[in-house]
Amino acid sequence: MFSSIRSRLWLTYALIIGVVLTILGLALGVYLIRNPLAVRSTLQRLNILSNIVVLRSSDLENLNPPRLQLAVERADAVLDVRIVVLDSDGKTIADSRQSEGPRIPIILWSGIPQGTSQDSWFRDERGQLWLYHIRPIQNNMALVLTAPRPRFQILGILRDEFLRPFEQAGLAALFLALILSFGIARWVASPLQRMAQEARAISSGEYHSIPLEGPAEVKQLAQSFNEMGAQVKLSQQSQRDFVANISHELKTPLTSIRGFAQAILDGTADDPEELHRAAEVIHVEAERMSRLVADLLDLARLDSGTVDFHRDPIDLLELLEKLVDKFIPMAQEQQTGIKLEAEPMPVLHGDSDWLSQVFINLIDNGLKFSASGGEVVIRAFQRNNRACIRVEDSGPGIPQEDLKRIFERFYQVDKSRSRAKDRGVGLGLAIAREIVQAHHGEINAYSNPGDGCVFEVDLPLG
Ligand code: ADP
Repeated sequence: MFSSIRSRLWLTYALIIGVVLTILGLALGVYLIRNPLAVRSTLQRLNILSNIVVLRSSDLENLNPPRLQLAVERADAVLDVRIVVLDSDGKTIADSRQSEGPRIPIILWSGIPQGTSQDSWFRDERGQLWLYHIRPIQNNMALVLTAPRPRFQILGILRDEFLRPFEQAGLAALFLALILSFGIARWVASPLQRMAQEARAISSGEYHSIPLEGPAEVKQLAQSFNEMGAQVKLSQQSQRDFVANISHELKTPLTSIRGFAQAILDGTADDPEELHRAAEVIHVEAERMSRLVADLLDLARLDSGTVDFHRDPIDLLELLEKLVDKFIPMAQEQQTGIKLEAEPMPVLHGDSDWLSQVFINLIDNGLKFSASGGEVVIRAFQRNNRACIRVEDSGPGIPQEDLKRIFERFYQVDKSRSRAKDRGVGLGLAIAREIVQAHHGEINAYSNPGDGCVFEVDLPLG
């Protein structure tokens, strides 16, 4: 029932209004019960009437008790107020309502100076509160005028005086709350509704960013939503690119394989030399395809986070020496120098197989791109408690604009540059980056075109 923002806001307002009106009503009720105004006006009346009594009956103090009783009763009959005369001990000598009212308790008044008066209260034997005004008169006597404290029936007052205005105020406030909640809900909910629409649009392949408006939290949500949308768009795009790249990389070798296999089948390639060439092309392209598939499988495993990286203690120097030894025949074949310059350093922990794959890719690229007579140098040293491994070559280098994208999947600087039979597919560096990052390291490439390039891997030691 209260599922929309609007109805919840309205309910909140209604509750607040209800609580405020109740507190207000209670405070007013308590104030009325105490009623300081009525108490003050009763005391004022007693004060005035006592002046009148003194003026009217100037010789009160000289009357004997029966006459005194008569005098106060007469005065009460005219002024309609209970009049009491006390002796010096505070005991009642005369009381105009002696017969009907409860008795007056002893009031010790001796401290009140002559010519002054005092207001106070007492509780009679029935528990009723009385307000009184007292003033000393002659002959060690005191004149007291008293009246019960004014009382109101709280329920009656609330019902008669307050219920209607409270009802009206409550209704008006609820109506106002309805309008307010409608406005605020629109203000809060419309960007949210737009976000819901956009989310639906994204799921059907469209994406528009949401304007940043509304309250701060909603703006933040819109901002996060826009970022998420852009990310989704990017990942959809890269997914499309990925599939297009794979298809492209598979198409080329498949076309070659099909063409040469056809030539063998229909007899176009009939002499042994041509047959050998066709078989060689088929072999090379099949190799390429299986390398591509292996790389894709590696990437898929790295992406899904299912690779169980070991944390073996690795002696980096030993590992690099073994790798470099494996590359010596290849370097000799293409007449390129290969050199390892490494300083001893503490062991690092990681997966030696996966890390070897990173260095193999870098050294292989270095040798592939260095011209004969060039040199590939592998340096390893310690920097800020991290192992730094650099692979420097003397190849053509990488232009600055390509350097930024070199670790992207399928990115190749110049495809025509590597038309050789061992040309890759542009996944090696992307895989290397995933492996290094999984080891909490970094991989970067630097180059001055024409002056070779440097690939630097930075891994935490220990
Ligand atoms: P590939 O399998 O094509 O070698 P990589 O991811 O290892 O894929 O490299 C991507 C691209 O980066 C290569 O195609 C090449 O254009 C460029 N590249 C990598 N290493 C070097 C290097 N040492 N010198 C020049 N270009 C390089």
